[in-house]
Amino acid sequence: MTDRPTTPSTVEKGGAGVEGLSLLLCENPLPPLDEAVAAARAELPRSNHYTEPYSAPLRDLLAERAGVPVEHLHVNAGSELILRQLFDRFGQQVHLLTPTYPLFPEIAERYTETRLRPDEAFQFDLRDLSVPDGTTLVTLVNPNNPNGAALDTAVLPDLLAAHPDTRFLVDEAFVDFVDGSVVHLVPEYENLLVTRTLSKAHSLAGFRVGYAVLPEAVAADLNASNDAYPLARPSQAAAIATLEHEDRIRERVQRLRSWARDLAADLRALGVRTFPSETYFFLADVAPHDAGDLTAALAERGIHLKPLDDDRLGPGYVRVTTGRPAENERLVTALGDLL
Ligand code: PMP
Repeated sequence: MTDRPTTPSTVEKGGAGVEGLSLLLCENPLPPLDEAVAAARAELPRSNHYTEPYSAPLRDLLAERAGVPVEHLHVNAGSELILRQLFDRFGQQVHLLTPTYPLFPEIAERYTETRLRPDEAFQFDLRDLSVPDGTTLVTLVNPNNPNGAALDTAVLPDLLAAHPDTRFLVDEAFVDFVDGSVVHLVPEYENLLVTRTLSKAHSLAGFRVGYAVLPEAVAADLNASNDAYPLARPSQAAAIATLEHEDRIRERVQRLRSWARDLAADLRALGVRTFPSETYFFLADVAPHDAGDLTAALAERGIHLKPLDDDRLGPGYVRVTTGRPAENERLVTALGDLL
Protein backbone atom coordinates (compact mmCIF):
# COMPACT_ATOMS: atom_id res chain seq x y z
CA MET A 1 0.00 0.00 0.00
CA THR A 2 1.32 3.43 -0.85
CA ASP A 3 0.63 6.42 1.37
CA ARG A 4 -2.22 8.50 0.10
CA PRO A 5 -3.15 12.07 0.95
CA THR A 6 -5.85 12.41 3.60
CA THR A 7 -9.18 11.49 2.09
CA PRO A 8 -11.48 14.51 2.12
CA SER A 9 -14.56 13.90 4.24
CA THR A 10 -16.79 14.20 1.20
CA VAL A 11 -15.26 11.11 -0.37
CA GLU A 12 -17.29 8.69 1.64
CA LYS A 13 -15.70 5.38 0.80
CA GLY A 14 -18.20 2.58 0.53
CA GLY A 15 -20.94 2.04 -1.98
CA ALA A 16 -20.10 -0.48 -4.64
CA GLY A 17 -16.62 -1.02 -3.15
CA VAL A 18 -17.84 -2.37 0.19
CA GLU A 19 -19.12 -5.89 0.74
CA GLY A 20 -22.50 -6.13 2.45
CA LEU A 21 -25.15 -3.52 3.01
CA SER A 22 -23.83 0.00 2.53
CA LEU A 23 -25.97 2.91 3.58
CA LEU A 24 -22.95 5.22 3.73
CA LEU A 25 -23.23 7.36 0.72
CA CYS A 26 -26.71 8.77 0.85
CA GLU A 27 -27.37 6.81 -2.32
CA ASN A 28 -30.73 5.85 -3.68
CA PRO A 29 -30.99 2.06 -3.08
CA LEU A 30 -33.05 1.64 -6.28
CA PRO A 31 -31.16 0.97 -9.53
CA PRO A 32 -31.51 3.14 -12.65
CA LEU A 33 -34.73 2.67 -14.62
CA ASP A 34 -34.49 -0.17 -17.16
CA GLU A 35 -35.07 2.40 -19.90
CA ALA A 36 -32.00 4.34 -18.74
CA VAL A 37 -29.79 1.26 -18.83
CA ALA A 38 -31.11 0.28 -22.28
CA ALA A 39 -30.57 3.80 -23.64
CA ALA A 40 -27.02 3.90 -22.25
CA ARG A 41 -26.23 0.50 -23.73
CA ALA A 42 -27.57 1.53 -27.14
CA GLU A 43 -25.09 4.42 -27.19
CA LEU A 44 -22.00 2.27 -26.68
CA PRO A 45 -21.43 1.40 -30.37
CA ARG A 46 -21.63 5.11 -31.20
CA SER A 47 -18.88 5.99 -28.76
CA ASN A 48 -16.44 6.98 -31.54
CA HIS A 49 -18.59 10.12 -31.84
CA TYR A 50 -18.52 13.08 -29.49
CA THR A 51 -21.83 14.15 -28.00
CA GLU A 52 -23.41 17.40 -29.16
CA PRO A 53 -21.47 20.35 -27.64
CA TYR A 54 -22.62 21.27 -24.10
CA SER A 55 -24.83 18.15 -24.09
CA ALA A 56 -27.30 20.23 -26.11
CA PRO A 57 -30.24 17.77 -26.22
CA LEU A 58 -30.09 17.19 -22.47
CA ARG A 59 -29.51 20.87 -21.77
CA ASP A 60 -32.57 21.79 -23.87
CA LEU A 61 -34.72 19.22 -22.07
CA LEU A 62 -33.56 20.39 -18.63
CA ALA A 63 -34.26 24.03 -19.55
CA GLU A 64 -37.74 23.10 -20.74
CA ARG A 65 -38.43 21.19 -17.51
CA ALA A 66 -37.12 24.07 -15.39
CA GLY A 67 -39.20 26.53 -17.41
CA VAL A 68 -36.25 28.83 -18.12
CA PRO A 69 -34.42 29.82 -21.34
CA VAL A 70 -31.58 27.43 -22.18
CA GLU A 71 -28.98 30.21 -21.76
CA HIS A 72 -29.41 29.76 -17.99
CA LEU A 73 -28.33 26.11 -18.06
CA HIS A 74 -24.97 24.53 -17.35
CA VAL A 75 -24.62 20.72 -17.52
CA ASN A 76 -21.61 18.90 -16.10
CA ALA A 77 -20.34 15.57 -14.79
CA GLY A 78 -22.07 15.70 -11.40
CA SER A 79 -23.18 18.68 -9.35
CA GLU A 80 -20.18 18.47 -7.00
CA LEU A 81 -17.99 19.68 -9.84
CA ILE A 82 -20.34 22.60 -10.46
CA LEU A 83 -20.49 23.47 -6.76
CA ARG A 84 -16.69 23.53 -6.61
CA GLN A 85 -16.57 25.94 -9.53
CA LEU A 86 -19.23 28.21 -8.03
CA PHE A 87 -17.29 28.29 -4.74
CA ASP A 88 -14.10 29.09 -6.69
CA ARG A 89 -15.84 32.11 -8.13
CA PHE A 90 -18.00 33.31 -5.25
CA GLY A 91 -16.87 31.46 -2.09
CA GLN A 92 -14.59 34.07 -0.49
CA GLN A 93 -16.88 34.56 2.53
CA VAL A 94 -19.59 31.94 2.78
CA HIS A 95 -22.52 31.67 5.18
CA LEU A 96 -23.70 28.11 5.87
CA LEU A 97 -26.62 26.55 7.70
CA THR A 98 -24.86 23.75 9.58
CA PRO A 99 -24.74 20.79 9.81
CA THR A 100 -24.63 20.71 6.03
CA TYR A 101 -23.14 18.86 3.08
CA PRO A 102 -19.51 18.39 4.25
CA LEU A 103 -18.12 19.61 0.93
CA PHE A 104 -19.09 23.22 1.71
CA PRO A 105 -16.98 23.92 4.83
CA GLU A 106 -14.16 22.11 3.07
CA ILE A 107 -14.10 24.28 -0.07
CA ALA A 108 -15.21 27.68 1.33
CA GLU A 109 -12.32 30.12 1.64
CA ARG A 110 -13.86 31.33 4.95
CA TYR A 111 -17.26 30.71 6.40
CA THR A 112 -19.70 31.76 9.11
CA GLU A 113 -22.59 29.60 10.29
CA THR A 114 -26.18 29.55 11.43
CA ARG A 115 -26.51 26.39 13.51
CA LEU A 116 -29.49 24.10 12.99
CA ARG A 117 -30.45 22.89 16.46
CA PRO A 118 -31.50 19.45 17.66
CA ASP A 119 -33.94 21.05 20.13
CA GLU A 120 -35.67 22.59 17.07
CA ALA A 121 -35.50 19.25 15.24
CA PHE A 122 -32.93 20.80 12.83
CA GLN A 123 -35.73 22.87 11.25
CA PHE A 124 -35.01 26.46 10.29
CA ASP A 125 -37.23 29.36 9.28
CA LEU A 126 -35.46 31.34 6.57
CA ARG A 127 -37.22 34.49 7.81
CA ASP A 128 -34.84 34.30 10.78
CA LEU A 129 -31.73 34.26 8.60
CA SER A 130 -29.29 37.02 9.37
CA VAL A 131 -26.61 37.45 6.69
CA PRO A 132 -23.30 38.73 8.16
CA ASP A 133 -21.74 41.81 6.51
CA GLY A 134 -19.26 40.94 3.79
CA THR A 135 -20.88 37.59 2.92
CA THR A 136 -20.23 36.77 -0.74
CA LEU A 137 -22.23 33.52 -0.81
CA VAL A 138 -25.08 32.09 1.27
CA THR A 139 -25.48 28.37 0.73
CA LEU A 140 -28.85 26.73 1.34
CA VAL A 141 -29.49 23.02 0.81
CA ASN A 142 -33.16 22.19 0.20
CA PRO A 143 -33.98 19.72 1.60
CA ASN A 144 -30.87 19.62 3.73
CA ASN A 145 -28.22 16.92 3.93
CA PRO A 146 -27.69 15.36 6.53
CA ASN A 147 -31.12 15.74 8.15
CA GLY A 148 -33.54 15.84 5.20
CA ALA A 149 -35.65 18.77 6.48
CA ALA A 150 -37.12 21.16 3.91
CA LEU A 151 -36.72 24.93 3.88
CA ASP A 152 -39.71 27.14 3.21
CA THR A 153 -38.33 29.17 0.31
CA ALA A 154 -41.26 31.63 0.09
CA VAL A 155 -39.11 34.33 1.67
CA LEU A 156 -36.20 33.86 -0.76
CA PRO A 157 -37.24 36.69 -3.15
CA ASP A 158 -37.14 39.11 -0.19
CA LEU A 159 -33.67 37.87 0.80
CA LEU A 160 -32.40 38.17 -2.79
CA ALA A 161 -33.70 41.72 -3.03
CA ALA A 162 -32.38 42.72 0.41
CA HIS A 163 -28.84 41.44 -0.31
CA PRO A 164 -28.09 42.29 -3.95
CA ASP A 165 -24.30 41.96 -3.45
CA THR A 166 -24.54 38.48 -1.96
CA ARG A 167 -25.07 35.39 -4.11
CA PHE A 168 -27.53 32.82 -2.81
CA LEU A 169 -26.73 29.26 -3.83
CA VAL A 170 -29.58 26.79 -3.42
CA ASP A 171 -28.40 23.18 -3.68
CA GLU A 172 -31.48 21.26 -4.86
CA ALA A 173 -29.84 17.81 -4.93
CA PHE A 174 -32.87 16.35 -3.10
CA VAL A 175 -35.56 18.78 -4.27
CA ASP A 176 -37.58 16.01 -5.94
CA PHE A 177 -38.59 14.97 -2.42
CA VAL A 178 -40.33 18.29 -1.67
CA ASP A 179 -42.28 21.06 -3.37
CA GLY A 180 -40.37 24.29 -3.39
CA SER A 181 -37.80 24.43 -6.18
CA VAL A 182 -36.67 27.98 -6.88
CA VAL A 183 -35.29 27.49 -10.42
CA HIS A 184 -38.09 29.60 -11.91
CA LEU A 185 -36.76 32.65 -9.98
CA VAL A 186 -33.31 32.55 -11.61
CA PRO A 187 -34.16 34.71 -14.68
CA GLU A 188 -35.40 37.45 -12.33
CA TYR A 189 -32.41 37.63 -9.98
CA GLU A 190 -28.74 38.16 -10.79
CA ASN A 191 -27.73 36.77 -7.39
CA LEU A 192 -29.49 33.37 -7.41
CA LEU A 193 -27.61 30.17 -8.30
CA VAL A 194 -29.32 26.75 -8.25
CA THR A 195 -27.63 23.37 -8.60
CA ARG A 196 -29.31 20.04 -9.21
CA THR A 197 -28.32 16.45 -9.87
CA LEU A 198 -29.73 13.24 -11.31
CA SER A 199 -27.70 11.29 -8.70
CA LYS A 200 -30.42 11.13 -6.06
CA ALA A 201 -34.13 10.67 -6.90
CA HIS A 202 -33.18 9.62 -10.45
CA SER A 203 -30.75 6.82 -9.37
CA LEU A 204 -27.99 7.90 -11.79
CA ALA A 205 -25.13 8.68 -9.36
CA GLY A 206 -22.66 6.48 -11.25
CA PHE A 207 -23.48 8.16 -14.57
CA ARG A 208 -22.45 11.57 -13.12
CA VAL A 209 -25.09 13.98 -14.38
CA GLY A 210 -25.40 17.35 -12.65
CA TYR A 211 -26.65 20.72 -13.80
CA ALA A 212 -27.17 24.26 -12.66
CA VAL A 213 -29.68 26.99 -13.42
CA LEU A 214 -27.73 30.24 -13.26
CA PRO A 215 -27.83 33.89 -14.30
CA GLU A 216 -26.92 33.95 -18.01
CA ALA A 217 -23.48 35.47 -17.48
CA VAL A 218 -22.51 32.84 -14.91
CA ALA A 219 -23.81 30.00 -17.09
CA ALA A 220 -21.89 31.40 -20.08
CA ASP A 221 -18.72 31.62 -17.96
CA LEU A 222 -19.02 28.01 -16.75
CA ASN A 223 -19.84 26.74 -20.24
CA ALA A 224 -16.85 28.58 -21.70
CA SER A 225 -14.37 27.43 -19.06
CA ASN A 226 -15.38 23.76 -19.09
CA ASP A 227 -15.06 20.87 -21.48
CA ALA A 228 -17.66 21.38 -24.23
CA TYR A 229 -18.44 17.60 -24.03
CA PRO A 230 -18.91 17.13 -20.29
CA LEU A 231 -20.96 13.92 -20.37
CA ALA A 232 -20.19 10.59 -21.99
CA ARG A 233 -22.78 9.48 -24.55
CA PRO A 234 -24.21 6.72 -22.27
CA SER A 235 -24.63 9.20 -19.41
CA GLN A 236 -26.46 11.69 -21.59
CA ALA A 237 -28.71 8.96 -22.99
CA ALA A 238 -29.47 7.54 -19.53
CA ALA A 239 -30.35 11.03 -18.28
CA ILE A 240 -32.74 11.76 -21.15
CA ALA A 241 -34.41 8.35 -20.87
CA THR A 242 -34.92 8.85 -17.13
CA LEU A 243 -36.35 12.34 -17.54
CA GLU A 244 -38.85 10.92 -20.03
CA HIS A 245 -40.26 8.79 -17.18
CA GLU A 246 -40.63 11.34 -14.39
CA ASP A 247 -43.93 9.74 -13.36
CA ARG A 248 -42.02 6.58 -12.38
CA ILE A 249 -39.42 8.65 -10.52
CA ARG A 250 -42.23 10.36 -8.59
CA GLU A 251 -43.66 6.98 -7.66
CA ARG A 252 -40.21 5.81 -6.50
CA VAL A 253 -39.78 8.98 -4.42
CA GLN A 254 -42.98 8.14 -2.54
CA ARG A 255 -41.82 4.54 -2.05
CA LEU A 256 -38.44 5.64 -0.70
CA ARG A 257 -40.04 8.14 1.66
CA SER A 258 -42.37 5.52 3.04
CA TRP A 259 -39.49 3.04 3.54
CA ALA A 260 -37.55 5.74 5.39
CA ARG A 261 -40.58 6.59 7.55
CA ASP A 262 -41.06 2.91 8.44
CA LEU A 263 -37.37 2.55 9.27
CA ALA A 264 -37.44 5.63 11.49
CA ALA A 265 -40.48 4.24 13.32
CA ASP A 266 -38.66 0.92 13.87
CA LEU A 267 -35.64 2.78 15.27
CA ARG A 268 -37.85 4.79 17.61
CA ALA A 269 -39.35 1.52 18.85
CA LEU A 270 -35.76 0.58 19.83
CA GLY A 271 -35.43 3.80 21.84
CA VAL A 272 -33.47 5.75 19.22
CA ARG A 273 -34.36 9.42 18.72
CA THR A 274 -35.02 10.26 15.07
CA PHE A 275 -35.52 13.65 13.44
CA PRO A 276 -38.15 14.52 10.80
CA SER A 277 -37.05 14.24 7.17
CA GLU A 278 -38.67 14.67 3.76
CA THR A 279 -36.12 12.45 2.03
CA TYR A 280 -34.84 8.87 2.06
CA PHE A 281 -32.29 9.59 4.82
CA PHE A 282 -32.66 11.05 8.29
CA LEU A 283 -30.66 11.87 11.41
CA ALA A 284 -30.81 9.61 14.42
CA ASP A 285 -29.32 10.07 17.89
CA VAL A 286 -28.33 6.74 19.46
CA ALA A 287 -27.23 8.36 22.76
CA PRO A 288 -26.20 7.19 25.34
CA HIS A 289 -24.44 4.94 22.84
CA ASP A 290 -21.55 6.31 20.84
CA ALA A 291 -22.25 6.53 17.10
CA GLY A 292 -18.63 5.68 16.22
CA ASP A 293 -18.65 2.49 18.35
CA LEU A 294 -22.07 1.52 17.05
CA THR A 295 -21.22 2.02 13.38
CA ALA A 296 -17.98 0.04 13.88
CA ALA A 297 -20.00 -2.83 15.39
CA LEU A 298 -22.48 -2.64 12.51
CA ALA A 299 -19.62 -2.65 9.99
CA GLU A 300 -18.47 -5.97 11.46
CA ARG A 301 -21.90 -7.27 10.47
CA GLY A 302 -21.52 -5.91 6.96
CA ILE A 303 -23.77 -2.87 7.51
CA HIS A 304 -22.13 0.45 6.77
CA LEU A 305 -23.67 3.58 8.27
CA LYS A 306 -22.24 7.08 8.56
CA PRO A 307 -21.66 8.67 11.99
CA LEU A 308 -22.16 12.41 11.76
CA ASP A 309 -18.88 14.27 11.55
CA ASP A 310 -19.82 17.20 13.81
CA ASP A 311 -18.20 17.39 17.26
CA ARG A 312 -20.59 20.06 18.47
CA LEU A 313 -23.55 17.71 18.46
CA GLY A 314 -23.52 14.81 20.90
CA PRO A 315 -21.50 11.66 20.15
CA GLY A 316 -24.63 9.69 19.23
CA TYR A 317 -25.52 11.24 15.87
CA VAL A 318 -25.70 9.12 12.77
CA ARG A 319 -27.21 9.68 9.34
CA VAL A 320 -29.39 6.76 8.33
CA THR A 321 -30.21 6.17 4.65
CA THR A 322 -33.00 3.78 3.86
CA GLY A 323 -32.31 0.57 2.00
CA ARG A 324 -35.00 -1.69 0.60
CA PRO A 325 -37.31 -3.17 3.25
CA ALA A 326 -35.31 -6.42 3.60
CA GLU A 327 -32.11 -4.44 4.08
CA ASN A 328 -33.77 -2.20 6.63
CA GLU A 329 -34.90 -5.30 8.49
CA ARG A 330 -31.27 -6.44 8.72
CA LEU A 331 -30.30 -3.07 10.14
CA VAL A 332 -33.13 -3.07 12.69
CA THR A 333 -32.32 -6.63 13.80
CA ALA A 334 -28.63 -5.77 14.19
CA LEU A 335 -29.47 -2.60 16.15
CA GLY A 336 -31.86 -4.59 18.33
CA ASP A 337 -28.90 -6.81 19.32
CA LEU A 338 -26.44 -3.97 19.81
CA LEU A 339 -28.46 -1.31 21.64
N1 PMP B 1 -25.34 18.22 -2.95
C1 PMP B 1 -25.65 17.44 -1.91
C2 PMP B 1 -26.46 18.02 -0.80
C3 PMP B 1 -25.22 16.11 -1.88
O1 PMP B 1 -25.54 15.35 -0.82
C4 PMP B 1 -24.45 15.60 -2.96
C5 PMP B 1 -23.95 14.18 -3.00
N2 PMP B 1 -23.78 13.54 -1.81
C6 PMP B 1 -24.16 16.46 -4.02
C7 PMP B 1 -24.63 17.76 -3.98
C8 PMP B 1 -23.31 16.03 -5.17
O2 PMP B 1 -23.90 15.05 -5.94
P1 PMP B 1 -23.39 14.72 -7.41
O3 PMP B 1 -21.96 15.21 -7.54
O4 PMP B 1 -23.49 13.25 -7.52
O5 PMP B 1 -24.30 15.44 -8.34
